[in-house]
Amino acid sequence: MEKNIAVVTGASSGIGAASSLRLAAEGYHVVLAARRTERLQDLVDRIGVKDATAVSCDVTSDASVAALSDAVAELGGPLTLLVNNAGGAHGMDPVESGSTADWQWMYDVNVLGTLRVTQALLPALEASGAGTIVAIGSTAAFTVYEGGAGYTAAKHAQNALVGTLRLELSGRPVRVMEIDPGMVRTEEFSLNRFGDPDKAEAVYAGVPEPLTAEDIADCVAWVATRPHHVNVDRLVVRPLAQAAQHKVHRV
Ligand code: NDP
Repeated sequence: MEKNIAVVTGASSGIGAASSLRLAAEGYHVVLAARRTERLQDLVDRIGVKDATAVSCDVTSDASVAALSDAVAELGGPLTLLVNNAGGAHGMDPVESGSTADWQWMYDVNVLGTLRVTQALLPALEASGAGTIVAIGSTAAFTVYEGGAGYTAAKHAQNALVGTLRLELSGRPVRVMEIDPGMVRTEEFSLNRFGDPDKAEAVYAGVPEPLTAEDIADCVAWVATRPHHVNVDRLVVRPLAQAAQHKVHRV
């Protein structure tokens, strides 16, 4: 393997799938990690087997993440980029009635998933001599809103992990970055959150142009392809129609 390798978690849909396609176009060999392998295989077919590898991975499982790390090592090339994208939201309940199972899921995937995959791949990223870790956070990582406590708590925690890691890796050749998107219209994010297509659709109702997965893939490609001494700590990106979490222009 001569190409630099990029691992993208949650590559089976939305931002992860778009980022994988874009990073392959930027010249990486992309390792696509998620649970739904048939979707990953479709993406590998689109990208081409020379430039992409599908690995079934559940970021909430130590064994599964260890297998991802082994699969990356077997490719034999330098691992220079990890995109911790797997994540999402479940529910929109107030704190007083929020489901602990929903909170648990959000913490497991967004926070512990990022921790697990980062721990497993950090040695290879460092060994490359020029590693980059990008976490897909959210504007929920620094803003709270009614009904959002489980998700905002998880994204705040992921941000704390990222910020701490940057301090701890000071002096070592791995930069740590975070992209915090506002409203991105992806196929599944709101559907997973509400479990109801009408409620999911209502999130974007009348919003002139929510961000797309490709917009965030563009941000991933941009931060990852800056010269390695440039560390984009945090990139906040929202649609023009969303001046703030609570201030969304609808027509
Ligand atoms: P999607 O629901 O489209 O994608 C989520 C991805 O995460 C899927 O590929 C899913 O794959 C994967 N995933 C979920 N659980 C696991 C798991 N246990 N192990 C491995 N992979 C898992 O959402 P988006 O593309 O919209 O979101 C991607 C990221 O961006 C998330 O972290 C989200 O919080 C963040 N974000 C999204 C915003 C939005 O408005 N859409 C705004 C701000 C941030 P599979 O089910 O196959 O395992």
